[in-house]
Amino acid sequence: MLGPLKRIVDNSIVRYLKDEPSPRPTPTPRPAPSPGPVDSFEPVPAPRTTPCPHPGPAPSNANTGGPNCPDPAPLTPPSTDPKNPTPKMQVRPARSDRYDESRNGTDIDTIVLHHTADKSDKSSLETLTGEGGGLAGEVLRKIKEKKNGGKVSAHYVIGKDGTIYHLVADEKRAWHAGGGSVHGDKSKDVNDRSIGIEIVNDGDGKDGYTEEQYKALEQLVPYLSKRYDVPTKNVVGHKETNPDKKDPSENFDFGRITRATEKVR
Ligand SMILES: [Zn+2]
Repeated sequence: MLGPLKRIVDNSIVRYLKDEPSPRPTPTPRPAPSPGPVDSFEPVPAPRTTPCPHPGPAPSNANTGGPNCPDPAPLTPPSTDPKNPTPKMQVRPARSDRYDESRNGTDIDTIVLHHTADKSDKSSLETLTGEGGGLAGEVLRKIKEKKNGGKVSAHYVIGKDGTIYHLVADEKRAWHAGGGSVHGDKSKDVNDRSIGIEIVNDGDGKDGYTEEQYKALEQLVPYLSKRYDVPTKNVVGHKETNPDKKDPSENFDFGRITRATEKVR
């Protein structure tokens, strides 16, 4: 019984005495650093674990998306201004029952920041796109819809790791800030005039906003501000447009976003 064990011991002693260098694995090249902002729109396909729920040709007026669907066309054409390149982002289209085609003739002049009141990227995206989660997801969405007073969406979501998700084309009217007004101006509907950005955060004041989320916002908000000529004073929190709202929570450092936007104005 001791034969094989003895051989192993003997072999190791021999190796030790000969002072042979132990074989080293071939070093693997380091992954290339993240490329940062790019001047072309490069959607990153989402991982697909279950089949696309939209087989066959999609209706022309509907999004074809969802986390498990073939890559849809870019939602908003990329910036053609080399001085204001489109940040790198993932395309995750919202279902077409979550936005309006038209902004009712109103120009974009406001950016509204929110927290999702949800710690998870996955369930935040499911709530805001209407996609994913199977039957359980549908049931959960119905419960959330009741709580939120209806279906909700946003143009962008900032994941915990700083991934920027593009859900609704900028030119469409997303459903993120119903009611209220911008600086008391009730002549324009807030959803008509604004781009909505949801930041994945529980909103309890204790869940921290990550450095990656701030860095993503410091790219995305100035880019949108420059592209649509949104003045810094119109980069606001949801709670500023509606006294019934509390987002983004007190522990969000809004000053960082304001300062980053002022640099491009
Ligand atoms: Zn909100």
